[in-house]
Amino acid sequence: MQPFDLISVDSIQDAVKAQSSASTAQQGASVRYIAGGTNLVDYMKLNVETPAKLVDINGLNLTAIEPAANGGLKIGALARNTDVAYHDSVKAQFPVLSLAILSGASTQLRNMATTAGNLLQKTRCVYYRDTAYGCNKRQPGTGCSAIGGHNRMMAILGTSDQCIASNPSDQNVALAALEATIHVTGAKGERTIPIAQFYLLPGNTPERETVLEPGDLVTHISIPSLPAGAKSYYLKLRDRTSYEFALASAAVVVKQSNGRIDFVRVAMGGVGTVPWRSLEAERALQGKVATPANFRAAAEAALHGARPQSQNGFKVELAKRCLTHALAEVTRQA
Ligand SMILES: Cc1cc2nc3c(=O)[nH]c(=O)nc-3n(C[C@H](O)[C@H](O)[C@H](O)COP(=O)(O)OP(=O)(O)OC[C@H]3O[C@@H](n4cnc5c(N)ncnc54)[C@H](O)[C@@H]3O)c2cc1C
Repeated sequence: MQPFDLISVDSIQDAVKAQSSASTAQQGASVRYIAGGTNLVDYMKLNVETPAKLVDINGLNLTAIEPAANGGLKIGALARNTDVAYHDSVKAQFPVLSLAILSGASTQLRNMATTAGNLLQKTRCVYYRDTAYGCNKRQPGTGCSAIGGHNRMMAILGTSDQCIASNPSDQNVALAALEATIHVTGAKGERTIPIAQFYLLPGNTPERETVLEPGDLVTHISIPSLPAGAKSYYLKLRDRTSYEFALASAAVVVKQSNGRIDFVRVAMGGVGTVPWRSLEAERALQGKVATPANFRAAAEAALHGARPQSQNGFKVELAKRCLTHALAEVTRQA
């Protein structure tokens, strides 16, 4: 690991000031915030991340999980994944988020990992993690070793010729289905970013993963309330039953009235370069009766644009089955 300076801050203003001196807010920035450290330190040990300075933000008062004015929930950036998953309001209002978080990592990791850290965790692409290989996301212009290489775990939606790395987070898939908003304080003040606009597709600039600017500190996320009677569910398919990243996952929110689906939100994990909201699947389900045939049609729509690689073609059918199972489960609960 490269030597680095560590400073602690106890005000948001000091944090923003310290970090805004970085040339970029993305991977490779010279000044980085550190929260739980379970992602950043991992990559510092591998020399994938080599910041000159870490700004420890654990002294900021950002751990609250509390009701929001609109009836939804506000979750502090430093709320630990365990505390979010087991919070009574999260379990009651947004079980999809609780299930998603609990399907990720391990108890020990979830006890350290924070809401914002999870939001901003880096891909687990094997080539991103290994500096011996070219990787446009880690080092722009060096190529994508995953294309034509070991790509079984990689994305099939939202990929480009420059990058096929998948977003690894379970939490983020649930947040996409819940239409969360990211609240940020930066050098120019406060702003809010809908999660649908937060992540960037890789395109020709895979090193730039989010719209964050240097100094931007995520302070909290907010989740709007769901319509009365809406149910939510998260299903994750993976190589092992625990402690493994998703091959495919589905976060679904559904409300039915008079036997028809009148509110639906669908997002998928393990298949997209970003947490993958599927408006196509939602359109296919809106106003329909909850039947296996309609679920299958929605899954076909969701995976319509899939671009599999040499080793991950199985994900297309796996993801379809994942989504149909999740929809069957959530509508059974209604
Ligand atoms: C072995 C292993 C297995 C795992 N399995 C899964 C899994 O199955 N599913 C899953 O979803 N995750 C999994 N994870 C990932 C884990 O959930 C993340 O490491 C964790 O959520 C990151 O949170 P953190 O607080 O430790 O982030 P950190 O490592 O502290 O930070 C991560 C990034 O976020 C930035 N950051 C942190 N806080 C802020 C803020 N407030 N504002 C701006 N930037 C910020 C940091 O600068 C850094 O770039 C796994 C991790 C490991 C090590």
